[in-house]
Amino acid sequence: MTNTIYLDNNATTKVADEVREELLPFLRGAYGNPSSIHAKGQEAKKYLEIARARTARFFNCAVDEVVFTSCGSESNNHAIKGAFFSSPKKRRHIVTCQSEHPSVINTCESLRQLGAAVTYLAVNSRGFIDLDELKRSITGDTILVSIMLANNETGVIHNISEISDIARGMGVLTHTDAVQASGKMKIDVAKLGVDMLSISGHKFHAPKGIGALYVRKGLALTSLIDGGGQEFGMRAGTENIPYITGLGKACELAHNNIDEIAGKLLSLKKGFYEKIAAAVADVTLNGDYDSSLPNTLNISFKGVDVQSLLINLDLKGVMVSSGSACSSGAPKASRVLTAMGLSDDRLKCVLRVSFSRYNTNEEVMKAADILIDIVNSLKK
Ligand code: PLP
Repeated sequence: MTNTIYLDNNATTKVADEVREELLPFLRGAYGNPSSIHAKGQEAKKYLEIARARTARFFNCAVDEVVFTSCGSESNNHAIKGAFFSSPKKRRHIVTCQSEHPSVINTCESLRQLGAAVTYLAVNSRGFIDLDELKRSITGDTILVSIMLANNETGVIHNISEISDIARGMGVLTHTDAVQASGKMKIDVAKLGVDMLSISGHKFHAPKGIGALYVRKGLALTSLIDGGGQEFGMRAGTENIPYITGLGKACELAHNNIDEIAGKLLSLKKGFYEKIAAAVADVTLNGDYDSSLPNTLNISFKGVDVQSLLINLDLKGVMVSSGSACSSGAPKASRVLTAMGLSDDRLKCVLRVSFSRYNTNEEVMKAADILIDIVNSLKK
């Protein structure tokens, strides 16, 4: 596809050249099983260790606190179900919030079928939970608080270190879904104060089908996949060395360049938003501009038909996401934005524009011009 402008990087990202170069050798010759004691196996084991060390540096944790998984959804499932099933005191209550990703909400819902009690904290109009409400929601039966680091639709960043302070003070574990935050802001499990943290490779330039979970040392998390003793007994299955290597490289690239990456993302987002806001009437930003990911913009256009807008953008080669889930062809208002209490006008036409470090200022400005032309002609 030529002449396309991809601004849907919260859906997925392109694989970085450096990541691709590192994983290709494994698809040719380096096919060993890291559990084998012969040379081929030991070669694979060495690469597994390199990737684990890079991922641990990205998290700011010890190497034996990194568990590789198949994706962000698995990491979230593992954290929440694992904490629930391994609760030493058989506590049954989980606290999360209404704007979480389905891999958290639906995990909690399936645990409810098994007897868990779940509190879904409300979010305010900017997408934040109320910390006093969080305190009030924690009881002697609470095992876990799971609140995402950054929201996938609005980019809103929750104050996880304050949340984990509250939870720890009340003897409760904290998990955070950092799938969208990875590669766009610094991740530091020590500063965040969490017990578990989820990431997913394809959101920051590694391939799809690889993720990781930080599990604080000493936390005996029940395994979801039983079998061999891989991943410190927490996740059985012969390790996917090519993709683990890819994830490790993506972690290294993000960790070493995070200030530069975040600066570039913010300047793309700022330039795009300012241009749109100056040229189109009735544009509103959903979420919180200052406390959000530098790459994510969620905006509503009043009086514009969203389907026409998306079709016209696609015809011009601009790829963004609508703010609604589309199941069986019928667009449904976003659960996240509905939870934030957006008015119907604003819910009807929402765009999520998400940048990556590979977008250029030139293409972003071009996409803004295209969007302005389409919106203004649809408004006529
Ligand atoms: N959590 C968040 C916030 C996400 O945005 C996503 C994917 O969109 C996931 C979890 C799931 O990640 P994966 O696609 O790797 O399962």
